[in-house]
Amino acid sequence: ADPVLQEDMLKFQETFKGINERFRLIGRIGEGTFSTVYKAEDLLYEQYDNEWDLEEKENSQWTSPPLKKRRTGLQQALANMDEYAQQRRRPKYVAIKKIYVTSSPLRILNEIELLSKLQGCDSVCPLITAFRHTDQVVAVLPYFKHTDFRDYFRKMTVPDMQIYFRSLFTALNATHEEGILHRDIKPTNFLYDPAKKRGVLVDFGLAEKEGTDYKPCLCEGGSQRHDERRRRLQNSVAVGMGPSNGYPKNDSRPSRRANRAGTRGFRAPEVLFKCTAQTTKIDIWSAGVMLLTILSRRFPFFNSADDVEAMIEIATIFGIKKMKQCAYLHGAMFESNIPTISEKGFSIEKIILWSTCRNDGGKDGGEIPLTDEEKLAVRFLERCFELDPNKRISAAEALEHDFLRDTMY
Ligand code: ADP
Ligand code: MG
Repeated sequence: ADPVLQEDMLKFQETFKGINERFRLIGRIGEGTFSTVYKAEDLLYEQYDNEWDLEEKENSQWTSPPLKKRRTGLQQALANMDEYAQQRRRPKYVAIKKIYVTSSPLRILNEIELLSKLQGCDSVCPLITAFRHTDQVVAVLPYFKHTDFRDYFRKMTVPDMQIYFRSLFTALNATHEEGILHRDIKPTNFLYDPAKKRGVLVDFGLAEKEGTDYKPCLCEGGSQRHDERRRRLQNSVAVGMGPSNGYPKNDSRPSRRANRAGTRGFRAPEVLFKCTAQTTKIDIWSAGVMLLTILSRRFPFFNSADDVEAMIEIATIFGIKKMKQCAYLHGAMFESNIPTISEKGFSIEKIILWSTCRNDGGKDGGEIPLTDEEKLAVRFLERCFELDPNKRISAAEALEHDFLRDTMY
């Protein structure tokens, strides 16, 4: 076995004295910016149980050791969770998420609180328990068997996509119904088992309650005050300045601050434009990026190094005109003199034909057009890729869309 990993697991067990009595660490399954995740066997699991299986959830029962002190918010959240846990069965295999001490205590509390709010939702991976030793916090989740996205996305047929996205949008719908934005929707945070055709949403480390970080934004509607601000913006000197004039050098205005959490390439335009009133629609955009990835068979599809590059990538597809409208919606401006960005951009259909090499590559066959089912997927994708978050489809609406409505699962 890997000696570095062995040492890492030993150190972990030393920090949490007594953890060996309940869990046997098996190996490391994930390592991210904010945590390390280990697979472990719960030694107190109920015998008949195998891995976490939702079909059997109803008559399930598992318990966790009672929590002694219930003073802090974190402890209260844990206590609530514990109560819930009493009604469920304990799975044999668990994922133990060790949250790095560099994460702020508020962030950790946030993740645990939001997860405890989502208990009972089948498509969100529930928390079994969590514990703390000094500044170390660990969350215990049922282990969910899944396949690496890279191993299956290229092989997915349109019906596979429909089942996959029905599962993802069910999870999003449950999350959004609680008024929670996940903020980091991407393949590694949606654990999918192609054999069972089921997935669960994980990683609420960046999630937040809608409206927590709220400041009014222009995109919210056509009130008079907003119209007035728009007019002012339109008449401003800066609008007359092309990109060749650069940006104002002695700009004394405070720079805009808004939550920009999330993963490069999956960020919605309103996140890039630092919209101050971000909604659950940012998750829908990210889910759209996942669908585009699968349809185009390219991962990562967007590969920007920073937010400006990300805007350029989006603008290349949607064109300058729409990008300007989008910027304007959030009280920002978009200018570019990059020759590859056209006025009108390209249709999603074209992008998919190009990236799957089905446009006429000079060969006799010419273009291999999209099938009807692929076209349906594209129609759905276009609804996820509305640049205006107000027009973008919601998770509830998505489940009623032709693309997802009649899927078998
Ligand atoms: P991070 O904040 O570090 O991204 P995540 O919660 O996303 O942490 O977990 C990181 C990785 O660990 C996931 O991408 C997944 O591969 C694995 N993982 C997390 N939770 C589970 C689980 N319940 N079952 C199986 N694997 C998991
Ligand atoms: Mg993650």
